Amino acid sequence: KGVSKIFYKHDEPFHVFDDINLNVETGQFVSLLGPSGCGKSTLLNIIAGLEQATKGEVVVDGKKVEGPGPERGVVFQEPALMPWLNVLENVTFALKGMDKAKQKEIALQHLKLVHLSKFIHSYPHELSGGMRQRVAIARALAMNPQVLLMDEPFGALDEQTRMMLHRELSYIWMQTKKTIVFVTHNIREAVQLSDRIVLMGTRPGRIIEEFEVNLPRPRQTTDPRVAALEEQI
Ligand code: ATP
Ligand code: MG
Repeated sequence: KGVSKIFYKHDEPFHVFDDINLNVETGQFVSLLGPSGCGKSTLLNIIAGLEQATKGEVVVDGKKVEGPGPERGVVFQEPALMPWLNVLENVTFALKGMDKAKQKEIALQHLKLVHLSKFIHSYPHELSGGMRQRVAIARALAMNPQVLLMDEPFGALDEQTRMMLHRELSYIWMQTKKTIVFVTHNIREAVQLSDRIVLMGTRPGRIIEEFEVNLPRPRQTTDPRVAALEEQI
């Protein structure tokens, strides 16, 4: 609500954006799209509580939140797994404080959701980039956040892996109906995955347009209706 962000560069104020209002409904999959530098990551980090807004507030389920919290799970472009822990341990690590047996049960359940049940004893270096990102998604979901925040999670992957992860994320969303805010540069990705697309512009950073995507799921990248919508945006 009314979020502004000013960074100071060499003591000069730099306004990333002023008075951003974004309302995400429970269970909605929203993509945040816009050119490089318009402030997508800054906005997502403010929602995640990793960056502080200069003005305005973040409200989750009616409660104002400050700083990071378990109700907001985050997935970045880099999965940032701990290389000395195996897949299962990387997920249970996020559940510290919980009873050990419960940690394992929840981790296994989420690793199954991302189709990695066979790889729970593997180490991050033994996995492909796409598989590592699936572990990061399982880790974020295992904490049962109300909102999943994703910043170009497939940006570092090759086209084929990205298409596979699109199917995977669509499946996860249909299974969990989790509220997702997904940052991307890729219009096709946004059209394929989301219910709603929020377009940001630069100088000054702001929301310039919003679209609802009313296509039945699952959608494929090759779906001609996805291409047609892509043309319009
Ligand atoms: P991209 O698509 O390239 O990831 P973005 O839309 O995510 O871009 P941001 O990373 O949010 O853009 O950056 C928005 C603006 O804020 C940029 O001009 C950037 O240089 C500036 N900025 C971001 N983080 C900082 C920081 N910690 N200190 C100073 N300026 C910053
Ligand atoms: Mg960014």
